[in-house]
Amino acid sequence: MSVSTDSCAPSVVETFDVHDPATGAVVGTYPVHDRHDVDAVVSSAHAAAAWWRDLGFAGRARYLDAWRSEIASGRDQLAQLIHREMGKPISDAKLEIAMALEHLRWAARNAEKVLGRRTVPSSLLTVNHAATVEYLPLGVVGVIGPWNYPVFTPLGSISFALAAGNAVVFKPSEYTPGVGSWLAEAFTRTAPAEPVLQVITGLADTGNALCRSDVGKIGFTGSSATGKLVMAACAENLTPVLMECGGKDALIVDADADLEAAADAAVWGGLSNAGQTCLAVERVYVHTAVYEKFLAELVAAASEIHAGAADSQIGPITMPKQLAIVRHHIEDALARGARALLGGTDAIDRQFVQPTILVDVPEDAAAVTEETFGPTLTVTKVRDMDEAVELVNRGTYGLGATVFARRRGRDIADRIRAGGTSINAFVAHATIPGLPLGGVGASGFGRVHGPDGLVEFTYAKATTRQRFPAPLPLTSFRRDHRVDTIVDLLVAVLHGRKRR
Ligand code: NAD
Repeated sequence: MSVSTDSCAPSVVETFDVHDPATGAVVGTYPVHDRHDVDAVVSSAHAAAAWWRDLGFAGRARYLDAWRSEIASGRDQLAQLIHREMGKPISDAKLEIAMALEHLRWAARNAEKVLGRRTVPSSLLTVNHAATVEYLPLGVVGVIGPWNYPVFTPLGSISFALAAGNAVVFKPSEYTPGVGSWLAEAFTRTAPAEPVLQVITGLADTGNALCRSDVGKIGFTGSSATGKLVMAACAENLTPVLMECGGKDALIVDADADLEAAADAAVWGGLSNAGQTCLAVERVYVHTAVYEKFLAELVAAASEIHAGAADSQIGPITMPKQLAIVRHHIEDALARGARALLGGTDAIDRQFVQPTILVDVPEDAAAVTEETFGPTLTVTKVRDMDEAVELVNRGTYGLGATVFARRRGRDIADRIRAGGTSINAFVAHATIPGLPLGGVGASGFGRVHGPDGLVEFTYAKATTRQRFPAPLPLTSFRRDHRVDTIVDLLVAVLHGRKRR
């Protein structure tokens, strides 16, 4: 990524180039929006937010449906753009788009049911009031996105924020600004009158400007390190944040698991998208009884996958600086006694990393504790599922997990500290639109997708209406000794009885 200043233009416009990670060719040049630009965009979004809010759930759903069909019709072009900007194979890009559209449809269809006004029963002491709750939009939501799933991930915030009635200002990753711009242009074609979804482009400073602008919330998806900077910037204005951060997800294989299916899931979960998936399987823990058999299945399946050729199932490492991290994790593990059953340091060639499977890796090695974000897997033998759960839960991250087991799958899943766990399949919990997605610990907080993902971009509004005068004046200086005595009696009857 290079930054340039176009001195031929009448006013100086700073720009940055986007490179095809496989070839290094420049595939686009975009403006670096500064604080002033960002504030202007957010200001225009506020006016659009009022229009959008007033459309109501049904009105917004019509626009969101139209946007969905715009994206679906342009999916070939969009998939090409994803491939050019961040390198994943076109077929993976199309799968990503398909998944994102499922969530967009769910958000539009379910927003009213989840967020709309509903009555809430009152209590014995407040029986004279009718009560309602509803979930109202925050106004303008800022969304900051990563490059690894440049459609699925930001749409996890954008679709739900829009369905909840907010306007959105989106800062895509500097590696995929074209994809972000394409999505916003598709929306504008369906709603040209109002800038309900706008894109700003740039690097860290542009993201920082969005955090400090007049937005009602920031939906951030990216690394945990950047998440901390985002939170610090948002703290200035008490702007709330949704944090979808990194992970170090594990896959557990129990003694009675379907080993072929488990190996297939580990290979796809660890190697697809060249391992550049927040929910990627980076660690595998296998019951000692099936360890050797599983390893043989895994190595055989992973040996079929190659990076680098035009028709390869996995593409390049998108960020040049990530190569040093992947190399360090592999070298450090090998130096500390690990063995590479596939790949290793020789697996790294220019921007491409071939599948790497490491065994005998110490549990405190970087390859086990830190996010690698490359097509690597560590595989560790465990004596039983108690040890597997203990090792999985040891890390600071808690995004997702996969369990392969016939008999005890649910029991193992219930003991894992993570925002989501899929049993006998990889990542299913992230693809079901009605389920929330997010993490705990260093993986962040807040949720996208499902009802929680809608509520995330709203504030709860409670309203009461007195239906008849209070039989007992409680919140008034008219409350006398007689009322106090009755309240005392009620408290004793309702709450004071000892229960066994
Ligand atoms: P990143 O943290 O480098 O960047 C994310 C976004 O933040 C980019 O748009 C970037 O320009 C912006 N940014 C950078 N510095 C900023 C600052 N100081 N203030 C505001 N914005 C700033 O992450 P990335 O490399 O784009 O994405 C990969 C990371 O994202 C991985 O850690 C991955 O696990 C994580 N991720 C998480 C999820 C999830 O759902 N939890 C999904 C996808 C990716």
